[in-house]
Amino acid sequence: MTEKFLGVIGGSGLYQMKDLEVIEDIKVDTPFGSPSNNIVIGKLDGVKLAFLPRHGIGHVIPPSDINFRANIFAMKKIGVERIISVSAVGGMKENMPPGHFVVPHQFIDRTYKRISTFFAPGMVGHVSMADPVCLATAGTLFKAAQNAGAQVHEGGTYICIEGPQFSTRAESHLYRQWGVDVIGMTNVTEAKLAREAGICYSTLALVTDFDCWHVEEEPVTLEAVLEIMHKNVEQAQKVIRGLISMLENIEPCSCCEAAKFAVVTDPVKIPQKLKGELSILFG
Ligand SMILES: [Zn+2]
Repeated sequence: MTEKFLGVIGGSGLYQMKDLEVIEDIKVDTPFGSPSNNIVIGKLDGVKLAFLPRHGIGHVIPPSDINFRANIFAMKKIGVERIISVSAVGGMKENMPPGHFVVPHQFIDRTYKRISTFFAPGMVGHVSMADPVCLATAGTLFKAAQNAGAQVHEGGTYICIEGPQFSTRAESHLYRQWGVDVIGMTNVTEAKLAREAGICYSTLALVTDFDCWHVEEEPVTLEAVLEIMHKNVEQAQKVIRGLISMLENIEPCSCCEAAKFAVVTDPVKIPQKLKGELSILFG
């Protein structure tokens, strides 16, 4: 049996995996530049795992400046087949207060400053984003969160804003009218790139605040976010460990074939350089 190779991208508050037996700490080169940090490869409960802190160690990279393409490309290059993205979010519904977890099934993309595709002039392709997360992975992640004792919601929509500022109150009310469940600044970009890269992707969203729509609450402050974040991250580590013990039970899926027929450009028209650079992704 081939070794399952799991990737974890850690967001705000999650900068390392507890109890990971580190095998190596590598700088991965990509055609898009450097990932947010070195990738730490190790074993957790006997399972190979790659960990990448999205904002860098010490939280130095703002959402819009994250090199998302380098991060996902690097994961693909080292052999990651499945990514769990752990991310701090705002709760957009009364029943999703700080401390709750959500495993979203949908995204709305309100970003406008980033490149969210590997395709480029010379090589055009389109993948389906109808179901933007790997539902098989998400289902198991949800069960792992339940088993870890988290108050977790299955499904829901994550709206991804550009940031780094939080929403205005008018925006927050507007997004609520759209029926979104949580709000964050990073995951839709990762989900799009992971889909193109044929990597299973699922988000574990950790609710840290109520954004600013909640009339009972003070507008979101960084202090409040960090305090809840700390507790959430501890529990998220338990969820990941639980998921690791359930990896074998994840239903088969077709994420790895998402880009198989995506390229529409006539192969003879694709520049050799681009072909070479993207061969890790598209063969
Ligand atoms: Zn999948």
